[in-house]
Amino acid sequence: MSLPAINTEYLIDFLVKLLNIPSPTGFAEPAVTFVEEELSQFPQLQLMHTRKGALVAKWSVESDLSPVALTAHVDTLGAVVKEFKKNGRLKLSRVGGIQWPTVETEGVWVHTSKGERIRGSVLIDTASGHIYSVAGSETPRNDSHMEVRLDARTSSRHETRALGIDIGDCVAFDPRVEVTNGFVRSRFLDDKACVANIIAAIKSMADAGVGPARTVYFHISNYEEVGHGAATGIPSDVAELVTVDMAVVGRGQESDEFHATLCIKDSGGVYHEGLNKKLRSLAEQQGIPYKTDVYPFYGSDGEAFWRAGGDVALALIGPGIDASHNYERTHIDGLVATTNWIMAYLLENRE
Ligand SMILES: [Zn+2]
Repeated sequence: MSLPAINTEYLIDFLVKLLNIPSPTGFAEPAVTFVEEELSQFPQLQLMHTRKGALVAKWSVESDLSPVALTAHVDTLGAVVKEFKKNGRLKLSRVGGIQWPTVETEGVWVHTSKGERIRGSVLIDTASGHIYSVAGSETPRNDSHMEVRLDARTSSRHETRALGIDIGDCVAFDPRVEVTNGFVRSRFLDDKACVANIIAAIKSMADAGVGPARTVYFHISNYEEVGHGAATGIPSDVAELVTVDMAVVGRGQESDEFHATLCIKDSGGVYHEGLNKKLRSLAEQQGIPYKTDVYPFYGSDGEAFWRAGGDVALALIGPGIDASHNYERTHIDGLVATTNWIMAYLLENRE
């Protein structure tokens, strides 16, 4: 069968909105809520939450086939306030292992536990060129030397605390979203791009009046970047789980921004050969541009489910993302390929 048409304007518009919602791991609820509101327009879906805060959308279908599931995550890298420095600036503890050089001079919002937002930026503690000159560039970019300069009057611990900031408050880095010539450039395309792929696939199918061939659960994970997002929330009758997450683009990689990739192996090991074969044959039948690849430093939410004892066939697909966990970029062609692949998978076995 031919696949429903994708509304690419909708896909990009949803993605840009999602990228602009700060959602570091542990503080991802606003992004989960945003996805939930978007999905609530589809009466086909039954929406549920796990206790951990993930969103699960069930599209029920009368079928003898076992249910399947797709997972993608809305949580991102970020930081929390670790310490108040004597000069009133903040030391941070990284969430999900962001590399300091990738966020040096980046704007941040400190989200206080009382619901306020305070603006600031990430700097090295030897930032002034007129004081430190070349030596400033030699300071190691690490937890001790990186600090947040708040855009508020403070020069002491006491004054910073008086702003309403507490140890443990969420610090979100600016995503800096730009769409140009079909490219989408932003922090945290990992994995919001793939959440947008799933939503666009649901919308395309719903608009075309077609449903999946079997019951499907869409699991929107909120703890992936710390390694256990989809460890729970996938029902036990699910036979296959397709993790939708970014493909690694760069030196030595086969993936690029214009294709979807099927990951055969990453740091967590090898995925399920049978499900891989099925996905490859669906891509070939539908003329979906795809690559296969191996990712060097990468673990997925699907593997988290496997490690937690999940008994499913497991695969990983997603669009190529350049400069991942840095200033990321992808292209509409990779997003369309991934969305089509999701639909091809969901519609398999339909007449
Ligand atoms: Zn990811």
